[in-house]
Amino acid sequence: MAFKDIVGNDRVKKIMCKALQREKVPNSILFCGQEGVGKKELALVLAKAMNCEQKKDDACEICASCRAIHTGNFPDVLEIHPEKNKIKIEQMRNLRHIAYLKPMVGRKRAFIVVEAEKMTGEAANSLLKILEEPPLFSHIILITHNPFLIIPTIKSRCQILNFSPVSREDIEKILVEKGYESEKAKIISLLVRGNLRNALSLEWEEVEDRRKRAWQLFLSLIGKGNMAFFLRNYPFSQRALVKEEWEQVLEILSSFCRDLILVKEKSDVSLLINPDYREEISKIERLLSLEWIIHCLEKIDYVISGFQKNLNVNLLFSSFFSNYKEWEYV
Ligand SMILES: [Zn+2]
Repeated sequence: MAFKDIVGNDRVKKIMCKALQREKVPNSILFCGQEGVGKKELALVLAKAMNCEQKKDDACEICASCRAIHTGNFPDVLEIHPEKNKIKIEQMRNLRHIAYLKPMVGRKRAFIVVEAEKMTGEAANSLLKILEEPPLFSHIILITHNPFLIIPTIKSRCQILNFSPVSREDIEKILVEKGYESEKAKIISLLVRGNLRNALSLEWEEVEDRRKRAWQLFLSLIGKGNMAFFLRNYPFSQRALVKEEWEQVLEILSSFCRDLILVKEKSDVSLLINPDYREEISKIERLLSLEWIIHCLEKIDYVISGFQKNLNVNLLFSSFFSNYKEWEYV
């Protein structure tokens, strides 16, 4: 993988490319941004470019260094991952110890700390010591989707680069290139909210299944008094459904709401996100007020953003469903 293979985030790529050309890549970098937007991939390209035998500002992908980094067999590039959901002090002590040793085969050492927000307090303090005065040949790249959990003293010592979600158009284009029909690509690109990794790993059957579930959920939301029955009897309301699936079901639910607004406002139906549900949407559109739909969208957005902030899933759902009487002002 080289810079060209990272979709979107041109600004971040440009900054890194310029830093490489000037040989001024910061020693401490913090990549922030939601999951699936290419943070780790870019960190690896950076590590390759700093050690590439052919190119100065990108990975050539052919030389021995680029290939070894690609397969994870380059001794000067190390990834640090949480162990049992924590990055522990021992891992950071080990990083510090190695960071002061000159590179073994490459020009630069690179440490990629994945899910950096999972550092324990002790680990973060240990890391801080090296961030205060890093050796010139060592680069520490912290990656997080939750910068709020990184202590300010660490942040202040890093160059912070914020990644944006991958655009819907870019995701749709990639899916079409991979052979998806454009209608399906459009639906997937919407429901992954800029997470390219998710978009590439979803099977269409799964998407279809979740759309059906979302539609049933929607019907029970608008069917006065059905909610209690729905929650009691419907398997996907049980806790077993993982957070990620819920996020997608809610994302689809939100797309139905947006389609309802389009139909209600008699906008161009070619803009519908779920054109195959057009008939069903038109049937129920008359039953719902615009205020109700907007209220529904707000509630959904609240839960999804809560997921992204790692708030407690059960609490979020209690707040979503508990006042279901509110839903009954259809
Ligand atoms: Zn190379």
